[in-house]
Order: sequence, then structure tokens, then C-alpha cells
Amino acid sequence: MINVAIDGPAGAGKSSLSRLLANKLEYIYVDTGALYRAVGLKFSNLGFTTELVGDIAAVLADTALDIRFIDGAQRVFLDGNDVSDDIRTPAASMMASAVSAKPEVRAFLLDMQRNIAKRNNVVMDGRDIGTVVLPDADVKIFLTADVKVRAERRLKELLEKGEKVTFEEVLEDMKVRDYNDSHRDIAPLKQADDAVLADTSDLDFEGSLELLCSIVQKGIGA
Ligand code: C5P
Repeated sequence: MINVAIDGPAGAGKSSLSRLLANKLEYIYVDTGALYRAVGLKFSNLGFTTELVGDIAAVLADTALDIRFIDGAQRVFLDGNDVSDDIRTPAASMMASAVSAKPEVRAFLLDMQRNIAKRNNVVMDGRDIGTVVLPDADVKIFLTADVKVRAERRLKELLEKGEKVTFEEVLEDMKVRDYNDSHRDIAPLKQADDAVLADTSDLDFEGSLELLCSIVQKGIGA
């Protein structure tokens, strides 16, 4: 199986670019952030705050998480319910970032991610795919852009969805998540030694996609 690992900070365009890249390659696109978001949703449904004070292992033992591909699109099921849309709010982002720092949560999701990659050609995106989940991936890309450019892109997305947010709020949220994701003790966000750096600050969407395609083609010798 061919595995393409794409890591990078929030708002770098990972999911939209990875999805299109996977379409082009006819691989499955796996959005691992959605898994952390679903786990975060479980904890907030139970009344936990981002401090996560309580028995995390007990909650996970009572959590059924499932990922399905319907017409090629990933859907995430939490305890039998499709939560793919509910996990896309700023509150869910912060909760995902909080739960992702917990070793129990990372261990809970590790095998699920590896098993999908073992059975399918995948483009898998996240924070630790090239470093931890798929250290032997055929191609590793670290996708990033300037934090203000990322906040601007994320703001546009949220406004289009009708969320009421300001640029300052999105920028602050992004800086907090960048800090949390790259400073946690376990599986912090960082570029794998053998990953190719793709900085899309000065590229539009098409340009970014072309850049990724050329990196993958070189990587798999196509
Ligand atoms: O990619 P997305 O923004 O949906 O991810 C939500 C959160 O999940 C991230 O801020 C990060 O804390 C966490 N995450 C992670 N490892 C991954 C994917 C996401 O820690 N592989």
C-alpha cells in the first residue's frame, strides 16, 4: 500500500488539499483531526472542560469510535451517531487540541489510524502522521503557511459557514492551538526529518495543489 503523510499546523489547508490530492491519486483521504475532534466532543458532551479533570481512561473505555468511507468521503461515528458535522466548531477545535495532549487518547487512536493505512492507499493528514503514526510512509510532507495567512483562510471558511467570529479571535485561537500542538510532551507537531517542507504562504489553492502533486510524484516515482 502507498501511504502519503501530510502534517502541519491548523489552517495550512491540509484537509482541502489532502482531499483533492487523494482524489487525483484515487487514494482514500483520512482526516485524523476528525478523530481527535470526535473524542473531544465525547468529553464535552459529558461535561468536561478543556482542563480534562477526571477519569479519561474510563471515558475512552466507554467510547465507540468508527470511521467509514461513504462515496469516498470520510464520516466519523461516535457511539453510533454520525458527528462529522458537529465536530467543526471553534469550541470543538479547542477541545480536540486539549484531548490530543493526553497519552491515553493518542494510544486509543493510534491503531485505528495504522490499520486504515495498512489496508488502503491513503493520503492521511494530521500532526504526527510522518513522525509517529506512519514513520515508514512513502511520502511525507510538512505543509505550513504564515500564521496570519492561515488565520485569514480559516476566518473565510468559518464566515461562509455562518459562524460569528472575528479575525482577531481566529488568529488568537490559531496561535494557542499552534503552541499547544507543538509544545505537548507526546507526539508534538514537528516536521519529520525526512519530510518535504511545503510553505503555501504565497501560493493560491491551485498553486499549493500543484506543489503537493509534484512532491508526491517525485516521492513515489510516478
Ligand atoms: O486538523 P484539525 O484541526 O481538525 O485537528 C484538531 C486538533 O486535533 C488539532 O489541533 C490537534 O490538537 C489534534 N490532532 C492531533 N494529531 C493529529 C490530528 C489532530 O493532535 N494527527
